[in-house]
Amino acid sequence: MKSQDDTASKKSNFINDLIKADLESGRFDSRVQTRFPPEPNGYLHVGHAKAICVNFNISREYSGVFNLRYDDTNPVTENTEFVDGIFEDLEWLLGETLQREPLHTSTYFDQLYIWAEKLIQDGKAYVDSQDGDTISEQRGGFQKPGTNSPYRERGVEENLNLFREMRSGKFSDGECVLRAKISMDHDNMNMRDPIMYRIRHENHYRTGDDWCIYPTYDWAHGQSDAIEKVTHSLCSLEFDSHRELYDWFLDQLEITGADRPYQTEFARLNFTHTVLSKRLLKHLVEQKVVDGWDDPRMPTLRGFRKRGYPARAIRSFCEHIGVARTNGTHEIELLESFVRNDLNKAAERKMAVLKPLLVTITNWPEGHVETRTAINNPEDDTAGTREVPFSGSLFIERDDFMENPEPKYYRLSPGREVRLRYGYFITCTDVIKDDQENPIEILCTYDPETSGGKAPDGRKVKATIHWVSAEHAIDGSVALYERLFTSEHPGEETGEALDDVNLDSKTLLEGVKLEPSISDLPLGSVVQFERLGYFHLDATGPTFFHRTVGLRDEWANIVKRRKSS
Ligand code: ATP
Ligand code: MG
Repeated sequence: MKSQDDTASKKSNFINDLIKADLESGRFDSRVQTRFPPEPNGYLHVGHAKAICVNFNISREYSGVFNLRYDDTNPVTENTEFVDGIFEDLEWLLGETLQREPLHTSTYFDQLYIWAEKLIQDGKAYVDSQDGDTISEQRGGFQKPGTNSPYRERGVEENLNLFREMRSGKFSDGECVLRAKISMDHDNMNMRDPIMYRIRHENHYRTGDDWCIYPTYDWAHGQSDAIEKVTHSLCSLEFDSHRELYDWFLDQLEITGADRPYQTEFARLNFTHTVLSKRLLKHLVEQKVVDGWDDPRMPTLRGFRKRGYPARAIRSFCEHIGVARTNGTHEIELLESFVRNDLNKAAERKMAVLKPLLVTITNWPEGHVETRTAINNPEDDTAGTREVPFSGSLFIERDDFMENPEPKYYRLSPGREVRLRYGYFITCTDVIKDDQENPIEILCTYDPETSGGKAPDGRKVKATIHWVSAEHAIDGSVALYERLFTSEHPGEETGEALDDVNLDSKTLLEGVKLEPSISDLPLGSVVQFERLGYFHLDATGPTFFHRTVGLRDEWANIVKRRKSS
């Protein structure tokens, strides 16, 4: 795995090498065209983000063309909610509007049908009237040849008639399929007379009831690439064994020269503590383990967006990891460090108290309110300052007080002096408790001489804590998140990723106290709450924040540990 300080150059990877060679040889008349072909049966996840960035960046780098193509060949699982969602998420990720209208495999249904008839006429395809289970049993296995279908030797005329009847709706779902006639003992299982068309009496969101037969991925994909004049068909490694079939179909259709795309595979993106299979993500949504596809714990682009991940950070991450030819798993902490580094520069600082405890300053002049000047972003000189009201009645974090402090606990405790961020030094003089002995109010004195954050006599304090003036605070809520999967590699032990779901991965805090300037924040802002992490304000509730990421750079710790071991 790479560390963030690796100088992985996006220029030097095997795909760029291929493209450069093609440009030099004039293979595609100097054209470069890529596409991102999602099936609209779910929302995009961070694995798709990698595929998008790879394809999009190539088109940019070589002044080529990039298209979004919906691979909409299965009306049973696809719908317009996903179509619209994919478009929105893709533009969000790229941070720009797409220059070209999205394309659809369904636009090519007519052409694909004509080509299928050509294959039948050439004796390269046949209608099989067996059921699906029988067909898959007959495929055989590794080092076990398949069995020919009893319908394999049907004549051209019969096949053509049957195929036309399939198309006209004479048969019901599953009664027959169109298969390519290649070989049932081919080493590559994908070449054992693969299915080209299935019957599905379903309404398609674009073609309505025009069709009751739908092309398979393998039959549709390469041909769609060719129709669109894609040059480099880039996909993830699991399609490796489909490449031979991709080429076989193009051979049969005599698509050659500059018109002929070719497929190249790159490694899938995987993360620790994460699943990136649409099937599993769908399951989490349907079983209500999460609050939807946009739940901030989900690795979906809309989950990340709701959590406050900047699209720019995801793009930088994808560029950093580059493309490889072998699958690997990246630590989720690496992605989080890109998010943190981005926000560190971009996010304004605010003060917020998540679990409030009241502090009364007993020697503060009755009714007096002061404003303190706070720095908006120490990483950004242009971000300026703001005024924060300070009074004799403040909230601090419950965790920042301990009645009987443990060793190395330097924050507030009886008799102890600490600094208030942008405020004064205060010393705890007394604790007021409820009947269960829980502290409910802390009495303190302040030292008016420490207004500048330092004591004139040079005495030191060991801790600085944040605060919000009680009478000026605005109320809000915060959702805190932990990893959705406790295990680094979900399902590693039981084989079932869902066994490792962390059902307690979300904590909702109400009655959070926020500094008043937060009421001016526009929805969508991500800010740093001092000492607590980065938080995203969204419309989930009135003044509702999702915790984006904590402040601690866990990735740096991983790198350090690795270097020392
Ligand atoms: P499923 O999980 O059902 O296999 P999928 O995530 O592959 O679905 P598609 O809509 O087929 O969904 O994917 C569109 C494109 O995204 C494909 O070209 C695929 O190669 C790419 N892709 C999907 N997942 C990843 C991933 N984890 N890393 C890189 N690319 C991916
Ligand atoms: Mg897929």
